[in-house]
Amino acid sequence: MIYVTGHKNPDTDSICSAIGYAEFKKALTGEEYVPARAGNLNPETEFVLKRFGLDAPELISNAAGKDVILVDHNEVAQAADDIESAHIIEILDHHKIGDVQTKEPIYFRAMPVGCTATIVYLHYKENNIEFKPAAAGALCSAILSDTLAFRSPTCTDLDREAAEAYAKVAGIEDIQAYAKEMFKAGSELAGKSPKEILYMDFKKFTAGNTTYGVGQVTSMDEDELKELAKTMNDYLHESFSEHGVDMIFLLLTNILDESSELIYAGEGADEVVKKAFTSSEADRTYLKGVVSRKKQVIPPLTEALS
Ligand code: MN
Ligand code: MN
Repeated sequence: MIYVTGHKNPDTDSICSAIGYAEFKKALTGEEYVPARAGNLNPETEFVLKRFGLDAPELISNAAGKDVILVDHNEVAQAADDIESAHIIEILDHHKIGDVQTKEPIYFRAMPVGCTATIVYLHYKENNIEFKPAAAGALCSAILSDTLAFRSPTCTDLDREAAEAYAKVAGIEDIQAYAKEMFKAGSELAGKSPKEILYMDFKKFTAGNTTYGVGQVTSMDEDELKELAKTMNDYLHESFSEHGVDMIFLLLTNILDESSELIYAGEGADEVVKKAFTSSEADRTYLKGVVSRKKQVIPPLTEALS
């Protein structure tokens, strides 16, 4: 029995490429290949497995003595424990070449593409093996996840080709709509209270006599951010006195279109925002191209306050 496993702290690519590649190897050789994982599933991957009716791969916390194929990693620090005493049979990866070592020559396929699932796609294609719908759905999800639905600079034409081929077999009609649904399910914000959301990433600063706090929330889901702008705006105003600052700012950053909505509370905050972001047009709270608190928000705020 040979395990196919991704890295620790697994993402959707590590889980779904393990599933898809184990299935490919089984179809090709008739032998037993078992998808495995080196850690717990994240909410995005849970959504994907449920959506396509797949079981979670078997958890292997220790690789010692096992026959393994590594997907989506080739660094000892990222691999299941005791990988040095495992028998590594193959590696499929799209990261830089790391430090995993083997005693014999192996099949090692590394490509500068956006996702391991794209390399898995080539294996099916080169060997004329048909995808099964469930695995194809999982593999398509992996590509959408790793490439931020084709928006990442790491995304190649081959990633698109693979995702579209998988989507066809899996019955995913609108790839972008599906990606949105998947990102939403994977959001870290789901189920958190406004207070928890504010303090997920919140920093205090002082400028002159003013102490102010700036929080930042990032998401890939426009609808989620729209909803949040409203709830968080209400929350900031209601709870303002609890936070121990003179002004409070919260950036709601949309990673996909590289913009932020700035909401705020506190006496004079309105003036400060107007002064700090003079270049922004009609709506002064919508900041196009602003994604970095450290580089693009704190300096103009500090300047406006001094
Ligand atoms: Mn990964
Ligand atoms: Mn990956």
